Amino acid sequence: MDERLQKPTVRQDPSNPGAHSEIYAVNDALLDGADIDDLVGFNVWLKDKKNNGRLALDLAQRCDNCVELTADIEWIENIIQEATP
Ligand SMILES: [Zn+2]
Repeated sequence: MDERLQKPTVRQDPSNPGAHSEIYAVNDALLDGADIDDLVGFNVWLKDKKNNGRLALDLAQRCDNCVELTADIEWIENIIQEATP
């Protein structure tokens, strides 16, 4: 089967889908009247976790569940990636 036609594999995440901060933030914005096209996502860690090299305000990658759930929203990392030659 053509690779593009196969359903992408979803990395197993120990959290339930919808349990992460970005989903709560999007939900709150929509409930407050925002239009989905007005939203741009930017997700950062709030605390240092030096044992895995992560510092507060480092970009937080979305898990595969959140990538699927927020597929209709622009994310800053995608905008940067598209703008980088
Ligand atoms: Zn997530």
